[in-house]
Amino acid sequence: MSDDRYHDTEEENTQDAKGKESETNDQNESHSDYEDVCFICRRPESKAGKMFRLPNHICVCDDCMHKTMDAVSQFDYQGLLNQPPTGDGDGNGNGFPNISFVNLADLQGDGGIPNKQKIKKKKKSDGAAEIDIKNILPPHKIKAKLDEYVVGQEHAKKVMSVAVYNHYKRVATGTMDEIEIEKSNMLMIGPTGCGKTYLVKTLARLLDVPLAIADATSLTEAGYIGDDIESVVSKLLAAAENDVERAERGIIFIDEIDKIAKKRNTNSRDVSGESVQQGMLKLLEGAEVEVPVGANSKNAMVPLATVNTRNILFICGGAFPDLEEIIKQRLNKRTSIGYTAELKDKYDKEKNILSRVTVEDIKKFGMIPEFIGRLPIIFTLEGLSKEMMVKILEEPKNAILKQYQKLLELDEVKLEFEQGALEAIAEKAMEKDTGARALRAIIEEFMLDIMYEVPKDENIGRVTITRAYIEGTGGPIIDIRSNSLEHPDRLNVIESSAAR
Ligand code: ADP
Repeated sequence: MSDDRYHDTEEENTQDAKGKESETNDQNESHSDYEDVCFICRRPESKAGKMFRLPNHICVCDDCMHKTMDAVSQFDYQGLLNQPPTGDGDGNGNGFPNISFVNLADLQGDGGIPNKQKIKKKKKSDGAAEIDIKNILPPHKIKAKLDEYVVGQEHAKKVMSVAVYNHYKRVATGTMDEIEIEKSNMLMIGPTGCGKTYLVKTLARLLDVPLAIADATSLTEAGYIGDDIESVVSKLLAAAENDVERAERGIIFIDEIDKIAKKRNTNSRDVSGESVQQGMLKLLEGAEVEVPVGANSKNAMVPLATVNTRNILFICGGAFPDLEEIIKQRLNKRTSIGYTAELKDKYDKEKNILSRVTVEDIKKFGMIPEFIGRLPIIFTLEGLSKEMMVKILEEPKNAILKQYQKLLELDEVKLEFEQGALEAIAEKAMEKDTGARALRAIIEEFMLDIMYEVPKDENIGRVTITRAYIEGTGGPIIDIRSNSLEHPDRLNVIESSAAR
């Protein structure tokens, strides 16, 4: 069969299809947000053009369909395929009883690959999707919003607010004449549990941009066991619901970045350290990457999307253990030169030694210069003090205590905490050395009994958690409501008992 003949068939089919298409389009409104992907070449509809829809949810693009038909036409059907069924009574074509040919238009039904693996269609009005420079929150407003959730870390919040503001200004303006604004990728250094991930999550939520959180420890050079580096972009695409344009303005947070420091004293190939840093360079700078849609790895069955990372904000975070030692060594070296040589342990007692970090120290730690060069904004977070822990318990908008109070409020029970109890929780958490992460674990442990016992007794009107209860030497104070029906809110202390 020649190409011309195929075109004839296709023309008829597309005419037929138009009517059906409008019907099915209405029915499939929910699917219309996603692009179909060719089953053979894996290109999305925006690249490959209109798709033919085959049974079993298979879509094939025009090119592949052509190729297939060409291949089929090598068998000489002597024009049989082109002869339409004439409907001569028995419903069959010219002299071919019981043989009917597939009408391609019938196949243009519902696209088959699950939405998870489909790419969102580009919006028609390009301008609407752009960021309007007037709508970007100014730094002081970003910081004020962060203040509602994140306790302390004033310096980090300020640096991040300005960096994010500049970043989105850069995105909004595109490339400006000769002066191109540098990308504001960040490196945050701070002990575990001090709020690094939490800051980034809060930031992404209030800016309403997609966020992908990846762990550098799982990344390896492509071809080795582990996730390859581009998988972080794939995660972002998933967070943006496969909307490439939205993903291209998102944030990627790579945690535990210190784990990809150059391995010292190794003779083998450093596939999860230096090579990963090398591999990340082009992502950080801005490159077009082909990433699998709806899966972690590229394989023949997964469609690919091209994402440009030029406007993606990369934030790397890590605890960088031993960095303090490197800083101290440097500072000691400096002071021991000359006459005013000081005691070697002068910096041992200094609390926030990490804040004195320089690029040189980070290089010495094992990060390659090109990598640090692409993270121009470097800042540190403080370890949490007892006072900060107490504030974390009660102040943020979604503080843990507020959450428990709300839960018990639904049973019309008031939950209160003595100041001493809060301090005891904070002290316990400090011992664990995992930052604020320990708080929740501690609270959950002793709140279990309360949450179990309180709903048993309808007369309980108020529970006060005491220091003694946290320390295991006493119990909470239970107050019984006086007239629970008339004044459920008015409490009368009848009994103050130790629950255990
Ligand atoms: P890391 O620095 O290791 O990434 P996270 O950000 O995951 O630590 O912190 C763990 C949890 O501790 C967060 O989910 C958050 O609830 C709480 N948290 C930590 N630091 C703060 C802070 N400064 N303000 C409020 N909550 C915090």
